[in-house]
Amino acid sequence: MSQDDTTRRKAPVARSAPDLKVEDGPKGISRRGLFAAGAAAGVSSMALAAGRKAEAASHDDGAMTWHYEADVVVLGAGCTGLPAAIRANDLGASVLVIDQNFDAGGRMLHSGSWVSLGGGDPVQERDRAGESDAEGFITVGAQVPEGALEDSVDLLFRDVTDWSIVDQQGYGYYRFNNPDQHRGWAENCPATRQFMMDNYIRFTRINGTHFGGGVSRARAAYCFLNLGPVTDIKAGTITAEDAGVADPERSSPMCPVQQSIGASEANPMSVRGGGIMSRCLEYSAREKGVRFMFNRKMTELIQDDNGAVIGVKAVYTPRFDPETGAQLHSLWSAGNIEETRETIYIRARRGVVVGTGGHAGNPHFRSQFYPRMNEPWFPTSGWALLGEDGRAADASGIIAGIKVGASLDGLHQNLGRRTYHIATRLGVRDAYTSMYPGHPTFPFRKAAGFSIGQAGFEHLVAVNQMGQRFFNEMRLGDEPLDPRYPGGITTGTPDSWDEHNVADWRNCRSAWIREMYDYSAGVDAAIQINEGSTAPDYYSGPIWAIFDEAAVERGQFPLRPPFVSTENGCFFKADTLEELAEMIYDGNPYQRVRPYHLVDTIATWNGYVDDGVDPDFERGQADAPMHRIDRPPYYAAAIMVVWHDSYGGLRLNRHCQVLDMEGRPIPGLYAGGEASGGGQMHGLGRATVHGYIAGTQVVKGGIIGETAR
Ligand SMILES: Cc1cc2nc3c(=O)[nH]c(=O)nc-3n(C[C@H](O)[C@H](O)[C@H](O)COP(=O)(O)OP(=O)(O)OC[C@H]3O[C@@H](n4cnc5c(N)ncnc54)[C@H](O)[C@@H]3O)c2cc1C
Repeated sequence: MSQDDTTRRKAPVARSAPDLKVEDGPKGISRRGLFAAGAAAGVSSMALAAGRKAEAASHDDGAMTWHYEADVVVLGAGCTGLPAAIRANDLGASVLVIDQNFDAGGRMLHSGSWVSLGGGDPVQERDRAGESDAEGFITVGAQVPEGALEDSVDLLFRDVTDWSIVDQQGYGYYRFNNPDQHRGWAENCPATRQFMMDNYIRFTRINGTHFGGGVSRARAAYCFLNLGPVTDIKAGTITAEDAGVADPERSSPMCPVQQSIGASEANPMSVRGGGIMSRCLEYSAREKGVRFMFNRKMTELIQDDNGAVIGVKAVYTPRFDPETGAQLHSLWSAGNIEETRETIYIRARRGVVVGTGGHAGNPHFRSQFYPRMNEPWFPTSGWALLGEDGRAADASGIIAGIKVGASLDGLHQNLGRRTYHIATRLGVRDAYTSMYPGHPTFPFRKAAGFSIGQAGFEHLVAVNQMGQRFFNEMRLGDEPLDPRYPGGITTGTPDSWDEHNVADWRNCRSAWIREMYDYSAGVDAAIQINEGSTAPDYYSGPIWAIFDEAAVERGQFPLRPPFVSTENGCFFKADTLEELAEMIYDGNPYQRVRPYHLVDTIATWNGYVDDGVDPDFERGQADAPMHRIDRPPYYAAAIMVVWHDSYGGLRLNRHCQVLDMEGRPIPGLYAGGEASGGGQMHGLGRATVHGYIAGTQVVKGGIIGETAR
């Protein structure tokens, strides 16, 4: 049993605010049933202490007015926030979750739902025993050898702190991980897997490990539901429409990304993805009485005289459909508090959990790690869903933490697995993610974009804001892989999984690094200073795929709605290259200069095609066939550099307490997921466990000022 699990048996906190319980509907209650049940249960009433006065806070000369009060205030209804909220609620605390967006889920809603945990977690054990899940939904057999599922907390901990593992760019991948934080993380992986299963998450078979999850064992499984006539999270079904699999060109309000068929990991009628993961957790949270306030952004953490965090300042941040002007609302409303005042203060009696995600969408913040990534045109993944510039992964939780004295951790780990890379989906700014019409945030991106894969770059040349080529297009999207199970040269680990020795010097011997080294600097070339970059920022500007009608036919590019739009600044079509250059300049707000060289660049390229060699970037017929660009009309489609995950953030101990510059916990302040640093570990596994730990510890910590902490 993990340390954080010990509090499970007792509920130390008496609820001080009235509960809102969504009635359990009859078996088979649909999601619309939850919606209706919530409304019938009086969702609009203020279950929390609205308008209550609290004692003066030290940061203010006068009396502090608190507009709301809860035992635990969770910032962000995403992958850290939802588990934290459910866990704290399970332990008896009243919980208010605020989110700057109009709906729950954060980047988790967009994700692939591949959750890497381990340490002998219940899904590893289930698969190892060759059993199905409790409901018998899983009909396929184990996906990995039995031995690859034999895991322990100690092995997991050693794996994720293994100094000897390097990735394909020779970077020490796990050696910089914060050991105390990772010990706590590893100890709580088995309990978190069970906790998620207790909250409506069904896991597929384990079929590998996500990056950051270690190289010794298989630890990752997807979240799934079965396709059925109704969406019924309790029964484990979702309609094809809600899952986004009914129409290849539509998403749904429930799942912005079309969910994937899980035939090889669960059964042929199963669908898996982040929409499912997120909605299951959200459903459970609402059902258990967690309260939500959307359109509400934390802008400040508030401390008392002793430096304890006792609440937050939060501002109203509604979102409106850019085409109709209609306000966007959450899919479900049970437990929502509608609050439209511009600024409010919320008191947290036991503490605040920062689950606000990362900094990848904040060009100023992220350029601390890579100065050339200051170009604001390049967004983070999930930009449209999260709310565009200044909202999507904007580092607000980290910055608020810094202002109350928090220290940071793992700042350089962004440079490990190069989380910024070139996307192979063209013609849309939010190029890492797929989304079709049907989700309310589609109008922010206006197009799905069209994915051409790395091979599709054969049909185009890539140019910078000046219209100049800058790299071999066939290598532009190359990304070094990360070391993880099942090992082997492509993931930077020398041996197959069962031969791998943890913390063995041979894993990083020079000869091995020379053998497996694979780093392509396409993204670095794309963001470099060019003729159009000017002081003081030297912005690199957008980059463009340039191609002609012959390429469209060869590559079968779907240049029609919903794949492209002439209104999102990412796609242009013209009869001449001169005209195309003008359209780019006029039509893209970040194109600060005319692409002066475009016509010459294409003429030069056509000469290289005739000669069969590209002396500038050594792209030749050996890479892929070379094609002239000379059959009008001509096209320009945005190629995006995307900063995906965030590594580096608030420094945590094993209890997910945020540490100050002296290494002491800041009373009342907890964090996790991408708002935290010190872990070279992707996404969901990291965030869910942090949420589970933080939700536990914030309740264990007691009332601020009343309990020794
Ligand atoms: C397309 C895609 C696919 C992915 N696939 C996987 C996968 O298969 N496996 C995996 O492990 N990981 C995956 N990830 C990564 C994973 O989704 C994230 O790492 C994870 O969701 C991070 O959790 P978080 O709680 O830190 O942030 P989030 O889940 O993003 O939640 C943060 C929430 O905080 C809110 N917020 C931000 N600032 C404030 C503020 N100041 N006040 C109030 N609210 C605020 C945001 O609106 C958001 O709802 C994927 C991500 C994407 C985009």
